[in-house]
Amino acid sequence: MTDGPSYGFDTLQIHAGARPDPATGARQTPIYQTTAYVFRDAEHAAALFNLQEVGFIYSRLTNPTVAVLQERIATLEGGVGAVCCSSGHAAQIMALFPLMGPGRNVVASTRLYGGTVTQFSQTIKRFGWSAKFVDFDDLDAVRSAIDEDTRAVFCEAIANPGGYITDVPAIAAIADDAGLPLIVDNTSATPYLCRPIELGATLVVHSTTKYLTGNGTVTGGCVVDSGKFNWSASDKFPSLSAPEPAYHGLKFHETFGPLAYTFHGIAIGLRDLGMTMNPQAAHYTLMGIETLSLRMERHVENAVKIATWLENDPRVEYVTYAGLPSSPYHGRVESICPRGAGALFTFAVKGGYEACVKLVDSLEIFSHVANLGDTRSLVIHSASTTHRQLTPEQQEAAGAAPNVVRLSIGIEDADDLIADLDRALSAAAR
Ligand SMILES: *Cc1c(COP(=O)(O)O)cnc(C)c1O
Repeated sequence: MTDGPSYGFDTLQIHAGARPDPATGARQTPIYQTTAYVFRDAEHAAALFNLQEVGFIYSRLTNPTVAVLQERIATLEGGVGAVCCSSGHAAQIMALFPLMGPGRNVVASTRLYGGTVTQFSQTIKRFGWSAKFVDFDDLDAVRSAIDEDTRAVFCEAIANPGGYITDVPAIAAIADDAGLPLIVDNTSATPYLCRPIELGATLVVHSTTKYLTGNGTVTGGCVVDSGKFNWSASDKFPSLSAPEPAYHGLKFHETFGPLAYTFHGIAIGLRDLGMTMNPQAAHYTLMGIETLSLRMERHVENAVKIATWLENDPRVEYVTYAGLPSSPYHGRVESICPRGAGALFTFAVKGGYEACVKLVDSLEIFSHVANLGDTRSLVIHSASTTHRQLTPEQQEAAGAAPNVVRLSIGIEDADDLIADLDRALSAAAR
């Protein structure tokens, strides 16, 4: 189909990027389970390798099934292009790779997925990169953290472990003033609830492992480019604006214009880092995306019901969900994620660590797993699992205090989920 801007989200989540298979007429996107593609002739091969013609060479770079998913996600986010990769964490490295270099830093929100905090505070140092963590509610602190070596600003729209919404337009304005791209991790919100590019983001990253696939089957990631950033406005982004030695002197921005970042991600990023998404994973994620809006509506509806019930229960100390009027971030829902504050939140159980452990062990429908964004409801007690190695002070700061449990609300019957929590809270109080 032609992806006219007149099509609504529900139509695009099923059709964007896909067309009947030209060879067979297959209506569903085939899984192109192939490593390589036969060149028409030597001239065709040379044109592909020179990036003079766009086509398929080798599945580390491009694959027709993955290409449909890339176009689908780019369209839903309102970007010009996207690169899929093997996981959400791979997407973060792929997103930073063309921007950073030894000695360069990224200014990042303190409110991030735990794995991202580790990747940014420890692992990227091996590349000579670093991250400066700042409270993104303190706009002056964000401004003053940016220095001559900063190459990107990074945050999550709805931040893990839930309950926090970033003021994306305010952060985008700061990045813009400094001539820097803003990268927004939109995993917890999905493009159905939040559209970071419309709010001023340059790049959007996803763990497609979560809501986009939606059923806990495959890991994957994606980097979406808005196509709006002027990479040549300063000399800060030579990978995109200056001659590329690993591509016989090609200047990506000059040659590809708004598609420069996407082409770089494939021609250099996937080619040399090799964090490729496989076609089978792309297939599962395409299946999931077809029902994204329907699922997100139910995720949010259930989350509101359950958070409200928990907040009114005497066995619960507090609930941190931005969808509740009691949340300090409730006022941001309308402008940042008007269709709802997602389905991730934490709550504190009276009785502390022991009660939380009993609660987690007593739940029947909720699965105790280190994952989120599944059709199934999930629970984790961070203090005894993912945040176990931290001091109590660090646990507190990360929203993972010993008395706190995180829920990822699924799309089951809300009444069944409430009954499950009710039973488990009683068991925990005993
Ligand atoms: C899960 C997650 C990631 C990491 O994604 P993987 O697919 O597990 O590598 C990054 N950011 C957020 C917000 C996530 O929830």
